[in-house]
Amino acid sequence: MNKYWALLGVVALILFSCGDKKEKKDNVTSEVEVVLPDFNADSAFHFVQVQVDFGPRVPNSEAHAQCADYLTQTLKLYCDTVYVQEYSTTTYNGVKLRAKNMIGSFNPKHEKRIFLAAHWDSRPYADHDPDPANHDKPIDGANDGASGVGVLLEIARQLAIKNPNIGVDIIFFDAEDWGPPTGSDLNGDWWCLGSQYWAQSPHLDSYRAEYGILLDMVGASDAQFYHEGYSSHYAQSIVSKIWGTAHQLGFSDLFINQPGNPIIDDHLYINRIAKIPTVNIVHQDIYTGTGFNPTWHTLMDNIAHIDKNSLDKVGKTVLAVIYSE
Ligand SMILES: [Zn+2]
Repeated sequence: MNKYWALLGVVALILFSCGDKKEKKDNVTSEVEVVLPDFNADSAFHFVQVQVDFGPRVPNSEAHAQCADYLTQTLKLYCDTVYVQEYSTTTYNGVKLRAKNMIGSFNPKHEKRIFLAAHWDSRPYADHDPDPANHDKPIDGANDGASGVGVLLEIARQLAIKNPNIGVDIIFFDAEDWGPPTGSDLNGDWWCLGSQYWAQSPHLDSYRAEYGILLDMVGASDAQFYHEGYSSHYAQSIVSKIWGTAHQLGFSDLFINQPGNPIIDDHLYINRIAKIPTVNIVHQDIYTGTGFNPTWHTLMDNIAHIDKNSLDKVGKTVLAVIYSE
């Protein structure tokens, strides 16, 4: 049931989306049929909005606790089995965090599995805001955190409608974004505390997946995803699969076939500790000094800067990869 495209060269491009058929023929010689999986960008946007409406999801805060309940309940709506990992972890500045990873599984008994992940916490301080007065304020994290989770909740909703042929685990990591402020010369692995915890103590003792896909900052209107450095190092064949799929779907404007910088993010620890090849689809901006979008770690990372079109293209790409397995 999950044959999503037949590749026969490059010719007539036939797009079927959400029931309506659009036909576009180019002058070519063979036929490529591209079927876009169902993915509702309005729904994904709604899932982003709900998270942001709780307020900054900074660990130990009330908004964080409320959002944890919401994410757990929403996963339970769609997934076959839901696990919640509760743990405490300590930040670079000695703050003890009460943290939670949530895992929603489809086809939990299936041996062949992949996982999809995003972090759901938001950064406690906007240390890259252009106004220094904002540097100790928490950010909404509409893009940095909530966008990846929003896409994954919509993917969960779609997987509940059209079950995949493989096992799929959706993982929401906590405590990703409490790393040292810019300018700190602290050494150590202070970012990604939730994924470090999971990589050392997965929700099931013998958990294995063939590969993983991490989404981080996937909602900006000018989003561009390069082959992030650690993804290429640890999982080049999966990078090729994802970017190849995106190009077949017509999304070469977002998925750029060029090397990007290596980014410290949840996938790094999963590659290193759990040794599951994991790719990061992460927005990199080669024109800013930080390497990221101008809203990154600023108070501008809010819902006004989330673009449904970017959520849509990322969601459809990831779903097409899942249904091609
Ligand atoms: Zn961040």
